[in-house]
Amino acid sequence: MKFKYQCSECGSTYDLDPELTTCPSCQKNQRDNEPLRGVLEVLAEGTLPPSPADRNVALLPVPLEFFPPVPRITGELWHPLRLCEEMKLPELFIMNDGSNPTGSFKDRASVLVSAYAQQCGINSIVLASTGNAGSSMAGIGAAAGQKIVLFLPETAPPAKMIQALQYGATVYKVAGNYDMAYDLSLEYSEIMGGMNRNTAWNPMTMEGKKTVSLEIFSQLGDKAPDRVIVPTGDGCILGGVYKGFKDLLQFGLIKKMPRITAVQAEGSNALYRAWKSGSFDDSPSSTIADSISVDIPRNGYTALRYLNEFQGEVITVSDEQIIQAQTHLSSGSGLFTEPAGAAAWAGLVKHRDKISAGETVVVLATGSGLKDTATAMKGIHVPEQSIHTIKDVRG
Ligand SMILES: *Cc1c(COP(=O)(O)O)cnc(C)c1O
Repeated sequence: MKFKYQCSECGSTYDLDPELTTCPSCQKNQRDNEPLRGVLEVLAEGTLPPSPADRNVALLPVPLEFFPPVPRITGELWHPLRLCEEMKLPELFIMNDGSNPTGSFKDRASVLVSAYAQQCGINSIVLASTGNAGSSMAGIGAAAGQKIVLFLPETAPPAKMIQALQYGATVYKVAGNYDMAYDLSLEYSEIMGGMNRNTAWNPMTMEGKKTVSLEIFSQLGDKAPDRVIVPTGDGCILGGVYKGFKDLLQFGLIKKMPRITAVQAEGSNALYRAWKSGSFDDSPSSTIADSISVDIPRNGYTALRYLNEFQGEVITVSDEQIIQAQTHLSSGSGLFTEPAGAAAWAGLVKHRDKISAGETVVVLATGSGLKDTATAMKGIHVPEQSIHTIKDVRG
């Protein structure tokens, strides 16, 4: 296989190069407070091996020998029988990324970024994160022996910061939101060098995230689902999901792009607004689902282009619906996912009447519920009093 970068905006192609992040000519049009211009995608050329496992490896632009020594990232499809019955969707599956090495979907991107840095002889990786990308890069980087510098909003859930520090990353707590952390981390890379892993800015992030689609396809027995429901903040997972299926289209393994339903929180719905109006505006966001709380979706232009090209859709759910969805999913299937992950389930519940019973539907559950227990407490009743004897038990 041969790999090139291709600009998602103008189509120019470039050789892979760690110095190259966005398309230099499209980046000239970058304005403040809008999504990234000139996001680069990886273009694969060549012939695919026939076996699914070899095929999924061959579609990665970095050879396996450079990969960090962690278990290969493979989320696993759940078939939640009780919920399938309740939702009247027999072919409903959940892709669980909560059991990845650091507990979130972000490991898919971090592993590829780590491998690419290793291949390029770069030992320091910098990034901004709402929490998961940072804890993920810190953990994967620890396995590889890379130095990780992380810019994290001070409001990030403590567990995610604790994870990053446990893994030995240098953490800067930012007195502001994720968008401010994003800009600070870019300034840091400019001064200090190293590889920047910011989402969409580093082409290996979207490329790493595409593995979810390749795995869904293999785990369904070389069959694409009809629909994938994707929790969305920056739109990098969304872009990655599309990119994976686009590779499968390109190599003739599927005939048709699945319908993609992006789900955003009502309080952080920049992509939804742009999908409705055709252009991005800048307005502050607020939701309990911290992993999808962004003012400016960095991969917004790429995500919107995909949604328009392949008739995707964006829907929104309230924080209340997210909290309910979290306990619904936990108690109905045994899968405890964090609020951002539960947003996709909330989207399925809200959108249920638009989905026909025969559809094969995959809902992404993108992170472990244990990453943010404070929010998860909102959906349950914690016993107020301790018991002293068996007589205190009332049934
Ligand atoms: C990052 C993240 C998302 C959203 O991904 P984007 O690429 O920002 O749209 C969803 N769920 C979890 C758990 C995440 O960490």
